[in-house]
Amino acid sequence: MSIFNLNEQNSNLDNKIVAGLERLSQVFRILLWEKAKQQGLSPIQIQILIFIRYHKAERTTVSYLAKEFNLTKPTISDAVKILEQKQLIRKYTDNSDSRSYTIQLTETGEKVVFETENFTDPLQEMVQKTMEDDKLILWENISSLIVLLNKAEIISVQRTCYNCKYFSVSKGIKYCDLLSIRLHSEDIRIDCGEFEMI
Ligand code: SF4
Repeated sequence: MSIFNLNEQNSNLDNKIVAGLERLSQVFRILLWEKAKQQGLSPIQIQILIFIRYHKAERTTVSYLAKEFNLTKPTISDAVKILEQKQLIRKYTDNSDSRSYTIQLTETGEKVVFETENFTDPLQEMVQKTMEDDKLILWENISSLIVLLNKAEIISVQRTCYNCKYFSVSKGIKYCDLLSIRLHSEDIRIDCGEFEMI
């Protein structure tokens, strides 16, 4: 069975959903390419800059970035080398291991992030116009799908509540024990700064 075979796709809702998701995955690629062209950078170079901007230093090593973007360490190292040559990032060597380093943005790097991170705006504007109840259903489905993809080891790094040591469930109610809050569906995070692996 192939979701790309139109007869099989159009006669089965599951196939149509997967085909729709595949179509949606193209949206980010197209929008990011547009920004990349304007900046003379590759999409992954922009993704690295944006990631570094919003994550703690310990998550900006080559190893961590390789896992985050499902790429090899040499591919990330090459991208980082070019970003350094363009003076968009600076490397900070680990005192205990001179081969290891974390990456921080330079002022020019910050400017590039500011000019590119809005590549998601067209989609965001559409989501903003969606009814609140529909948004919640969409979010519940997206977050569950991400967890399943992570369990299937298709998405490697997931800083989501469901993988976090501070997540707990009591009498069917979900909690974050670190922030001492009840987690309703809309509170579940897929990328949390306080996340700690179980
Ligand atoms: S620390 Fe963050 S990821 Fe962990 S349970 Fe709390 S909100 Fe979720």
